[in-house]
Amino acid sequence: MEISNEELIKKAAEVAKLKKVSEDVRIGDVGCALVTDNGNIHLGVSIHACCGIGFCGEHSAIASMVTNKEYKIKKIVATTGDGTILPPCGRCREMIYEINEENLDTEIIVEKDKTVRLKELLPRRWQETWDLES
Ligand SMILES: [Zn+2]
Repeated sequence: MEISNEELIKKAAEVAKLKKVSEDVRIGDVGCALVTDNGNIHLGVSIHACCGIGFCGEHSAIASMVTNKEYKIKKIVATTGDGTILPPCGRCREMIYEINEENLDTEIIVEKDKTVRLKELLPRRWQETWDLES
């Protein structure tokens, strides 16, 4: 039984619990839940730190996924603690793609009842452009 958008959104929101761990570092502004092609769920939270050393919720969910030797994302969502959905930033879109090129078909939840494929959010690959010029 495939997990519903609503359940995945709920899991992301459940881990998005803001915690200030030091003067400059906040954890959990954003939570992320993804389900792999094998049906396994991985969760992650953002780390907001100064000097650009933090990362998005998607990054930590993907880190959990690859730690478990999985690379193909069926569906992914990031939210704030109240369940507000945040589409992935450009860096995360690129990371999802680079982990596995087949992730261009990953469903990204952009609204409660709406998903788009990664390829719709990342329509022109920079490698393709580079190849054309060589
Ligand atoms: Zn991001």
